[in-house]
Parts: sequence; C-alpha cells; structure tokens
Amino acid sequence: MKTSRVFLFLSLAAVVAALTVAANRTPTGCNHPAVIAKTRLLMNTVVEITVRTDTPQERSRAENAADSAFDEIARLENIFSAYRPQSELSRLNSHGAEGPVPVSIELYSLIEKAIGFQKQTAGAFDVTVKPLKDLWAAAGSTGTLPERSAIDRARAKVGADAIVLDKIARTVSFSKEGLALDLGGIVKGYAADRATGVLANHGIRNAIVNVGGDMRCLGSRSGGDGWMIGIRHPRDTARIAYRLAVRDRGVDTSGDYERFFTIQGRRYSHIIDPSSGMPVADMTVSATAIAADSLAADAYATALCVLGEKGLPLAASAGVDALIITAANGGFRVRTTDGFKERYGIGTETL
Ligand code: AMP
Ligand code: MG
Repeated sequence: MKTSRVFLFLSLAAVVAALTVAANRTPTGCNHPAVIAKTRLLMNTVVEITVRTDTPQERSRAENAADSAFDEIARLENIFSAYRPQSELSRLNSHGAEGPVPVSIELYSLIEKAIGFQKQTAGAFDVTVKPLKDLWAAAGSTGTLPERSAIDRARAKVGADAIVLDKIARTVSFSKEGLALDLGGIVKGYAADRATGVLANHGIRNAIVNVGGDMRCLGSRSGGDGWMIGIRHPRDTARIAYRLAVRDRGVDTSGDYERFFTIQGRRYSHIIDPSSGMPVADMTVSATAIAADSLAADAYATALCVLGEKGLPLAASAGVDALIITAANGGFRVRTTDGFKERYGIGTETL
C-alpha cells in the first residue's frame, strides 16, 4: 500500500497553518486508510480539518462532518469575536461598565473558564489585557514606543478581578471603566474542541482540527500512535525542530515568531505580560502546551510565554505537558515538563 506521511505543522499564523500537507492521494479510491483535508478561512485564520477515512464510503460522511464543524466555528466567531462590532462579546464590552449584561450560556462559561485560567496561571493569562494590547498594536503600527504614562493608563484598565459574574441571573458586568475582554488567547483552542465534538457526533473517530495552529487530535492518522505534529524551529521557520505523535489531546504553540512587531529594532510579541504592561520580548521565544483539550493548551501556551521557564512547574501541576524555547547565548535553549519528556521524548536540549 502506498502511504504518504501527513505532517501537521504547529503554527501561529494563518498562512503557516495552511502548510499542512494534505491527504493521501488515492487515484483509484481504494487505498485506505486515506485522509480528506478541507480548509476554510475563519476567525481571521486558516482552519484545517483532516479526517481519516477507512473505506471509500466514509468519504462523503467525512466531508459532511467537516462542513458541519466549519459551520460551528463560524457560529462561534459571531459570539466571541472582539473585532466584529455585532458580536456578543463586543456588545458586552460596550455595555459591561454600565451594569449587568445578560449573556448566552456559552459566553458566560468561556469567561468563567478564562477567569479560572487567570487564577491557575498566577495572573499570566488575563483576558482583560485588551487596553494594553490595543496600545501596543498602535505602537507597532507607528513604530514608536508608547509613553510610560500611556502604559500606566492602559494598565489601570486591566484586571480580571473587575469582571463581575452573576451565575443565577447569568449576567456579566465590569466594576471598572474601560475594562474590555479579549478572548483571543483561548478562543481558537475552544473552537478546535467544539469542532472536534461536531466531528465526533457525526461518528468520526480519527481526525485533527487545526484552527490557526491550535489543534485538537482525535484518534490517529493510520492506527498508530496518533497524528504527527511538527514544532517549527523558532527562527528558521521552514525547518521542523521536533515531530511528535499526539493522540486525543489539544496541542498549541504560542510565540513571537509568527505574530510580532518591531519597534526600534526590537522584536515584540502579541502577548502582553499583565504584570508589567509590556509585550513579551526577546527571551521566551515560544511555548508549546499539550493538554486534555485544546482550550487548556491554548490558555497555557499563552501564559507560558509570559511566565517563561519558571511556569513549567505550574503547567505540570495542571497536568499540562509543556515545552519552552528560550533565546540563550545566540542560540536556543529547550526546557520541558517531566511529562513532556516522558511522553514525547524531549527534555533539556539546545537548538
Ligand atoms: P495566543 O496566540 O493563543 O497566544 O493568543 C494571543 C492573543 O491573546 C493576543 O493576540 C491577545 O488577543 C490575547 N492576549 C495577549 N496577551 C494575553 C495574556 N497575557 N493573557 C490572555 N490573553 C492574552
Ligand atoms: Mg493561546
């Protein structure tokens, strides 16, 4: 049987996410297992769904399942987008400081989970960083560092403690003027989980959903250990530094090598350290998290970029396998949790 390896490359940017090498090409349709891979642009990124099919008859079921999974992600985008003025999240952001805003159960529970991640990560993951993110995005586009006073003003608007939840009334309000939520650090992971759930409801047992680098694996590619996932070299992005076989887990990498901006020659990440108000810069280049679901992997990958290597014990205690790449002595240092070493064979190394 002719086989072609399918590598799904971890990535942060849309274009890179599209690099997944698609399917076994089976001209006669009788080489199985095979895979179908479909791609759509959603959530400002490339979403790719790859489904293993064991018989030619399964192909149309797989295609339909993938289409329903894409529809689910499109539905979520209408709720959670911080950029669409009509999204439920944008309406909450506009009115949350005026008083309790009734929200859907889905938005309520994702905010609740986000607050949980804030607590678990000692504040490194914070969905209220939006004022700082907007300030730094503007700085990146003009190429000028913001004034210290502007950073302090934005910081004063940040703080998950000011999110007021009322579970009974299912409302959310903000006890601080200027507070706004940005679920960008977890929403792609959540979408990958939901889309995988849709596939499972269609009877799919082996698939991988990749929402711009946030992945959820189901079963395996060909009955082996799982789906092969590549972690790119942080600077030589055409090179795959590591290949991992992952089964039934969420996988995400966050870092400065796809989405970043440069001011006065210095590279800044799109991830903000809530404690300093500054973007993560220079040292922690990327963090890969593998967790029970893609939501947790997404939250931890973002938080670990802020925490750096000192966040590894925190990830381990939450059952998250993590790998961090740090710039050191002109090269890169790799550190992992014990679980990552045990399950994926990568420990203390240099790149
Ligand atoms: P990710 O690519 O999953 O690491 O998410 C990065 C996105 O999360 C950013 O573009 C922001 O929208 C948001 N974000 C930035 N810094 C943080 C932070 N410290 N905690 C939570 N979300 C953040
Ligand atoms: Mg994330």
